[in-house]
Amino acid sequence: MQLFELAGLQPPAADDVTPFSDIKRFEERWHADPKFRSAYAQNPDCVGATFGLRVDPEVVRPIWDPEYSGRDESASLQVWVRYRDFQRRGSKHLLDACAAGQPADPRFVRWRQRQIYRANLEIGVSLTPNPHIPASFELSRGCSVGCWFCSLSPPKLDDVFQYTPEHARLWREILEVIGVLAGPAARRTICYSGTEPFDNPHYERFVADFVSAFGDVPFTSTAIPTRDVERTRRLLAISPAYRVRFSVLSVGALAKIHAAFSPEETLPVLFGLRNEGATDARYVNFAGRARDNVARYRKYQPGPPVISTPSCESGFKFNLTERTIRLVSPCAPDHRWPMGYRVYDEASFETGGDVARIVEDMMSRHMTRTASDLPVLRFPSHLRCESISTGFALIGRRLRQRFEDTSDMPSMARLGELIASGRHNASAIVTLLDRECGVTRETATATLEELFHLGVLEEDPREPDRLLSN
Ligand code: SF4
Repeated sequence: MQLFELAGLQPPAADDVTPFSDIKRFEERWHADPKFRSAYAQNPDCVGATFGLRVDPEVVRPIWDPEYSGRDESASLQVWVRYRDFQRRGSKHLLDACAAGQPADPRFVRWRQRQIYRANLEIGVSLTPNPHIPASFELSRGCSVGCWFCSLSPPKLDDVFQYTPEHARLWREILEVIGVLAGPAARRTICYSGTEPFDNPHYERFVADFVSAFGDVPFTSTAIPTRDVERTRRLLAISPAYRVRFSVLSVGALAKIHAAFSPEETLPVLFGLRNEGATDARYVNFAGRARDNVARYRKYQPGPPVISTPSCESGFKFNLTERTIRLVSPCAPDHRWPMGYRVYDEASFETGGDVARIVEDMMSRHMTRTASDLPVLRFPSHLRCESISTGFALIGRRLRQRFEDTSDMPSMARLGELIASGRHNASAIVTLLDRECGVTRETATATLEELFHLGVLEEDPREPDRLLSN
């Protein structure tokens, strides 16, 4: 249980390791397998034994017995109460890790905060917040798995970034650049995105450099944990608890995972159940390849499509094979950004020096931008502006935000109208507010900058000669 200590977590007591592992394994089967869910209550001992589950059905009764729903947890068996407490500590640990994504560079901090405000208005907020990590590094081109729902829609795997001496040097130089601008948040970056980590035969060597540079093991999500079981085991052995996730694509894949790894081995492993019939399947985002497979998507989600974001990077997305850098941030998937992330800029590089120069250039152009730099001020298309008696309100899919008059700025309603018209830049609005309403130029300028910081002014780059896309 050293992996829990490595993560800074209190490990379960020695006597609890096997009981907790057995409960977790039951939960994985329960949440993944609809046939198991419908059969279990009729004969728990027999069905459990058929699936190789060791847990006493009485322990997990709060999961499978509907009569237990809503009952006071303290009335359950003690091992269940201890397990739930253990789970809650794990969830808090993951939330704390999310909160540690703030980069060191103050320009980056301000830009990222603006992206968080914008994304929250666009897709809503949740109890499991998006980590908005500062960077990701794809170490292959394409993906060998080809999930039908993949939000990033990669092509078939056709190249990997080998760990040659030259590539290793470039990799370490890139890590150094990101380490400086991200500070401790660099530990939250990941060595995949629209790629499968294990597609790269040298993934672990890149991870070793990551550990040397940032002092921590990166999070890994793999959809092929059983392709080479010993390789997966080696990665698990060095990864702190909850730093590896198995993405489960079918009930058959879950059975293979359960056959290959003991319940105790997977106690520190997160499971992402993506198969049809899984209790979480209805949360699959309508992004990327899912938008091309509507009929199949409807089987997962018969109701309205899930318009959230599958993306977790507000920062630099690298592909080492293609040698590209993109400045990206999560958004709701739509026609403009079908993969659920915006691209603010992109560039190609050859050397570590190029990376340092490009990253600095993107930061100075995008992260120091002000409302006055925007060619025209308008609200993003996902927000509807509505006049209210004291100003204006912006209404998104899930959130509504009001901007009301203050003693300094008594003309919010007019300001809302001017921005909603989408015809003026900041300077023109400041002049109009001064002329029509007597608002001082300083107050109007400060108000516009505050609105920009709150992510309610569109900054999607629409350069006529260069339309960025996913
Ligand atoms: S979800 Fe992951 S494993 Fe599946 S196709 Fe996309 S990148 Fe590959």
